[in-house]
Amino acid sequence: MDYEYDVVIIGGGVVGCATLFILSQDGYKCLLVEKNPEILSEASSGNSGMLHTGFDAPINSKELHCIKLCQDEIFPLLDKWKVPDKRTGAIMVAWNEQQIRSRTYFYMRFFSQRRKLADIQKSSEDKGVVGDMYQLSASQVYEREPNLNQGVQGGIWIPNETVLDPWLFPVCMVQHSLHRNSKVKTDCKVTGITPEYNRTTVHTQHGAITCRVVVNCAGLYGDQIDNLVNCQTFSIKPRKGQYLVYGQNTSGLINSSILPVPTDKTKGIIVFKSVYNNVIVGPTAEDIPSRQVPPEADGIIRSKLYSATGSTVPCLSSYSNIGEYTGLRPATQYKDYQITTFPERNWISVGGIRSTGLSGCLGIGKYVRDEIREKLSLEPTFGPSSTIETLDWSFSQNHTVKFADSTEYKFVHPITTFGHQTHSSRL
Ligand SMILES: Cc1cc2nc3c(=O)[nH]c(=O)nc-3n(C[C@H](O)[C@H](O)[C@H](O)COP(=O)(O)OP(=O)(O)OC[C@H]3O[C@@H](n4cnc5c(N)ncnc54)[C@H](O)[C@@H]3O)c2cc1C
Repeated sequence: MDYEYDVVIIGGGVVGCATLFILSQDGYKCLLVEKNPEILSEASSGNSGMLHTGFDAPINSKELHCIKLCQDEIFPLLDKWKVPDKRTGAIMVAWNEQQIRSRTYFYMRFFSQRRKLADIQKSSEDKGVVGDMYQLSASQVYEREPNLNQGVQGGIWIPNETVLDPWLFPVCMVQHSLHRNSKVKTDCKVTGITPEYNRTTVHTQHGAITCRVVVNCAGLYGDQIDNLVNCQTFSIKPRKGQYLVYGQNTSGLINSSILPVPTDKTKGIIVFKSVYNNVIVGPTAEDIPSRQVPPEADGIIRSKLYSATGSTVPCLSSYSNIGEYTGLRPATQYKDYQITTFPERNWISVGGIRSTGLSGCLGIGKYVRDEIREKLSLEPTFGPSSTIETLDWSFSQNHTVKFADSTEYKFVHPITTFGHQTHSSRL
C-alpha cells in the first residue's frame, strides 16, 4: 500500500461523521478532515433535531432509501450511548382557510386538504415507511393537543417521529470511530486534490495526505470540492432556516410535534419540543446567496415566526422567546440526495443532503460503504467489528461534553446549548 489511509472524508458534518463511523466499523482506516476548529459547526449546527420517518421523501429516492436504513440502525446506538431522545410523535394538522370567499370554493379547499392528507398517508404506506400513521378527526386532534388554535380540520398522527440531541449523537459516532483506528483533523481545510492511479493526494493547509478513496461530505461547499477533481454534478443553493426558542416552562403546551401540510419546497414551520423540553418554532425556508451560516436572525422572518406561533398554539404567545437560531441547508437544484461515485477519480461525492441529513446519516454511510466495496473494490485494512462499545461521557458546566479518555467537544448546536440553560420565558 502506498497510501496512508484507505479513505479520507472531507467534512465533519453529520454526514461525514456517520460515514466515518460506518467505514470504521467495517475496518477501513479513515481520516476525517474538517476546515473549522469544531466539527458539526455548519449545516449540522442549525437543524431541528428531529428524526423524520421519511413519509414525505419522494418514492424510490436515495433519500427515502437512506432514511429507512438509518431507522433500522439508529435507536440501538442512541440507547447504547445514552444519547437523549424522545419518541414524541407528530401530528400533521390541516387548518381551515380564514379568507375563503365562496362556499363552493370553501368545500373544494376543504375536501382537497382532506384528500391531501389521505394522499400523504397512502403514499407513506406505499413507501413502506415504518409506523402506523392514521388520520385524526378535528376532535381527535384537539384531544391530543388541546392548546392548538381553533380551526383544525383534521390531521394525521405520525407516531414514530422522534427528537434527539442532534449534536451529541454525531459526536458519539466520531468518538467511537477514534477507538477503531480512525482519526480526525480539525482546522484542516482541503485546498486541492491530485487523483492518480489507485491513489489520491489530498492537499490541505497543513500538508498533503495520501489515500485510496476520497468521500466528499463538504455540505455547503460540496460543489466547489467536487470541482477540484472536475466531478461537479450539482450546484449548492443555500436555503436558510430560522427558529424561535422558548424556555422549558412552555413544554406542557404541546405533547407532540405540530407539522403543517408540507409543500414541495419545505416541510413548513413546525412547533415542536426539543429533547430538552424547549418549545421551538421553525424552521423557515429562504433561498439566500451566501454560504456562510448567518448567525443573525432576520427581523421580517422573526415576525413570520411570531405569527406562526400565535396561529398554531396561541397561548405560547404569552411567553417571550429566550432565543433564536438559524441554519443553512445545502440544497441543490435537485430534490433528492446527490450521491455519485467516480471510480476513475477514486472519488465519491455525497451532496445535497438538505433537510434530512440527521435522519438519513447512517443510511448514507452504508450507501457509501457499498459503493466503496462494489465500485471501487477497496478492501478494508483492518477486520470488521460488529461490536458497539459503550461511551462514558458527561456534560460539563462550560458547555462541553467530556469522554472518559478526556477528549472534549464544545457545544455548537443551539438545541444542546439552550437545553442546558435554565431560562424561563414567561412574559
Ligand atoms: C434549518 C434546518 C433544519 C433541519 N432540520 C433537520 C431535521 O430536523 N432532521 C434532519 O434529519 N435533518 C435536518 N436538517 C438537515 C441536516 O441538518 C443536513 O442535512 C445536514 O446538516 C447536512 O450535513 P452535511 O454533513 O452534509 O453538511 P455540513 O454539516 O455543512 O458539514 C459539511 C462540513 O464540511 C466542512 N468543509 C467544507 N469545505 C471544506 C474543506 N474545503 N475542507 C475541510 N472541510 C470542509 C464544513 O466546514 C462542514 O463542517 C436541517 C437542516 C437545516 C439547515
